[in-house]
Formats: sequence, structure tokens, C-alpha cells
Amino acid sequence: MDGVPSDVIMGKRVYIETWGCQMNLHQSEGLAGVMARAGYDIVDRLDAADVVLFNGCMVRQKAEEKVFGRIGAVVEEKRVRPVTLGVGGCLGQVWGESLLERFPAIDFVFGSGGHGSIPDLVARVAETFARIVACEEPTSIDEIPLVRRSAVSAMVTITEGCSNYCSYCIVPYARGPMRSRDPAAILREAEEAIADGAQEVLLLGQNVNAYGVDRPDVGRFEGLLERVAATGIPRVRFTTSHPRDMTDDVLDAIASTPNLCNHLHLPAQSGSDRILASMNRGYTSARYREIVRAARERVDGINLTTDLIVGYPGESIADFEETMNLIEEVRFGSIFVAKYSPRPLTRSARVEDDVSESEKAERLERVLARQREIALQENERFIGRDVEVLLESEARGGGSVGRAEDHRTVVARGGTIGELETVRVEAVSAAGLSGAVAVREGIEGRR
Ligand code: SAH
Ligand code: SF4
Repeated sequence: MDGVPSDVIMGKRVYIETWGCQMNLHQSEGLAGVMARAGYDIVDRLDAADVVLFNGCMVRQKAEEKVFGRIGAVVEEKRVRPVTLGVGGCLGQVWGESLLERFPAIDFVFGSGGHGSIPDLVARVAETFARIVACEEPTSIDEIPLVRRSAVSAMVTITEGCSNYCSYCIVPYARGPMRSRDPAAILREAEEAIADGAQEVLLLGQNVNAYGVDRPDVGRFEGLLERVAATGIPRVRFTTSHPRDMTDDVLDAIASTPNLCNHLHLPAQSGSDRILASMNRGYTSARYREIVRAARERVDGINLTTDLIVGYPGESIADFEETMNLIEEVRFGSIFVAKYSPRPLTRSARVEDDVSESEKAERLERVLARQREIALQENERFIGRDVEVLLESEARGGGSVGRAEDHRTVVARGGTIGELETVRVEAVSAAGLSGAVAVREGIEGRR
């Protein structure tokens, strides 16, 4: 086959599967972008693809196992036709070479940066039949084209990596230290998304409140928020806020800027001071409560959501009850709760994972059960009220689904996807609100 260009040999259809956080979902928009730029069609079925990319997560053991579980599907495909499999993201960055040893079906491993080089890696695999690990040299984020998942809500990275080293967390090892992005590049990307029809910008980072801490030339997070809001886009959101770096200035920016959404995702992780100290979170539960109080005083109707870990090493029943107390007091709109699992390289993996699996499961269920009741009660306050909803996609049972300004999920009858609509709330569940799009004056109601 000498002399035949590799792109003639290779098929040009790529399938990308993604696990994990919004950062990773967004990075897959970049993966799709670089593959599209290299001439690939992005397909939505593994069995229709010549190249399969798994952009994996390893923040919890279960997340990692899910990725590994999917490799079998590619093994089946490889039995009947040539398929190139690349596995990477945070998973590739940490496990590297060992993934090739463990899974013979993997052709190449990519890291959490460096996505710009993936089309070349695929070509090298096709030409040389080598199995490759390429986790070095991240591509500058500003050079990565994007194929966005949503035309309505555009994710924009403001910081990469994380320098916090929470004791349980793999992210600093998988993504490197925190790097704040240049505000001009952030604004340029936001403006491009707006020009393409986005109604919402979601600013992303592991700890957005620390924006600028690593480079004094870019100013602070609240300044960036104000500049992005000044583009005039109807909605600006951001995630994730770290309680340690949260300031009243950010709360005041939310209060005084109409298009900054009244939602704060503020992971508490635990309600126990002993556990928080061991986690290296840098705040006490009293400080967390103080931020909650300030947020509610300063921002009318703000919705607070959180992440929690149950069964962290050494978490006694009394520690866990502190977490339950926090939930009781704060009344979060929603909670993401995970059972602790030890992660390689991390500090907490060096101590015994001493809360039993059944105890972790029980604690998880207690959090979920109580949170379902709280969320239902909180949502009931919305019955009969009008909420402004950005409709994003079709709902499974008919109608469309989107988010209220405070991030509550809303299922609506009527209205147009991609538009901000007023919905009169008729029914609620623990998961969200539902109702009909109000008839706008002078416009006939649409069904
Ligand atoms: N930067 C964010 C969180 C990123 S990781 C923050 O600081 O809050 C997303 C969530 O995964 C975390 O909030 C935590 O609740 C969970 N998580 C991370 N490592 C974990 C581990 N080893 N076991 C269980 N859950 C974990
Ligand atoms: Fe992980 Fe902590 Fe960084 Fe969040 S702040 S990504 S939990 S190390």
C-alpha cells in the first residue's frame, strides 16, 4: 500500500463517547472540532464509525469502570472490520501506557490536553500499526475548534486544571495545575457563540472563583463575569464555585447583573469539620453556612446546589449526621452525592477505605431520600408561578425541556426550542417543574 495517502486507506467517520463532568463534555466538543477539521464525519453510532474515541473520566472508580466496560463493544466491532480505538482524557493522562497493557483493543491513548494531535495519531496508527501513548504537550485551548453539543447553551472554559489538591481528588493529577485563560480569548469565544445563536454562556472551571489567582494580569472572577455579561447574552452561568475562594463580590455581581443567573453550585462535600479538614477543603461547615447566608441575603431567590461525598475514610456516624444537618439547614435545590472511592496518586488513597460498602450505600440512600423530600417541598413553592425558561431540547414524554433561571429543570408544553419562554408552573416533582408556555400578548399560543 506504499504511496497511498493514509486518508484514502482510513475511513473518515468518528464516534466520540464521553463520561464525566461538564469540562469533559466540553473537551469532547473540541475533539469533535479537531476531527471535523481533519475531514471526519461525526457519527452518533459506534457501529457506524471507523475511529472510536472514548473520552473517559476517573474521578470515581465507578466512572472508570463504565469506560472500561464499553471497550468490549469495540472488541466486538473489531472482530468484523477495522476500527481504530483511542481511549483517553483524564483516564489516559493518569493510566497512560498501562491501558495498552490491560486492553489489547486500544490502539492509542490520549491525555487530557493535546487533542489537536489526535488526527495525526490516528493516521500514524493506520500507517504503522503501532500502539501509541500520547499524553504530553497540551494543545492551546485557543487553537481547538469546537463542534458544540448545544446551539442554545455554549460552554466556555475559563480555567483549566486545578491546584487545590483535595485529598480524595484525581483532577489535579489528571489535568495539571490551574491555568486561567486570557479574558480576550474567553470573550471572543463567547461572542462567537452568541453570533451562532447561543442564548446562554456557561463559564467552566474546577474552581472558577480562583480565576486570575495564577496570573495577576487578567483581573478577578467578578470582573470577568461582568465583562461576559456585558456582551448582552440573555444568560450567563458558571460552575464550579469552591467555598474556600467564594467572595461577596461574586454574590454582589450576581445580584446586580440581571443576566447573571441566580444559581450557585457550591460543593460542600461534607458537613463535618473533621472530615473537611482531612479533605483539605480549606473551610469549616460554619464558613460554608456563612456563605449560604450571604448568598441568600444578597441574591433574591438564589438556588443553591451542591456535591457531597459519603463514606470518606474515617467518616463516623456522627460525621455523617453533620452532613445530614447541613442538608436539613441549607435546603439545596439539588444534590449530587457520591460514595467515596479511593483514587490513585491521591492522599486519601494512602489511608484505609474503612467505611464498608453497605454503610456507604446506606448513607447515600439516606441523603438521596431526604433530598427528594426537600426538593419536592422547595419545588412546590413554584406552583402557579411564572418562570422564565430557556428551552433546550425535546422532552422524552413530549413537549420540551429546559432550565429556569435558577437552574431548575422545567418541562414545558408549547414554546420553541432555543427560545426563552415564560412557563406557568402547574405541577412539580423532586426532579423539577412542569407547565405550559404562557401565551404571549399579540402572539397566538403555540402547541
Ligand atoms: N472542582 C469541583 C469538583 C470536581 S470533581 C469541586 O471542587 O467541588 C466532581 C465531584 O466528584 C466532587 O465534587 C466530588 O463530590 C466527587 N468526587 C471527587 N473525587 C471523588 C472520590 N475519590 N470519591 C467519590 N467522589 C469523588
Ligand atoms: Fe478536585 Fe478539589 Fe480541584 Fe475540585 S477543587 S477539582 S474537588 S482538587
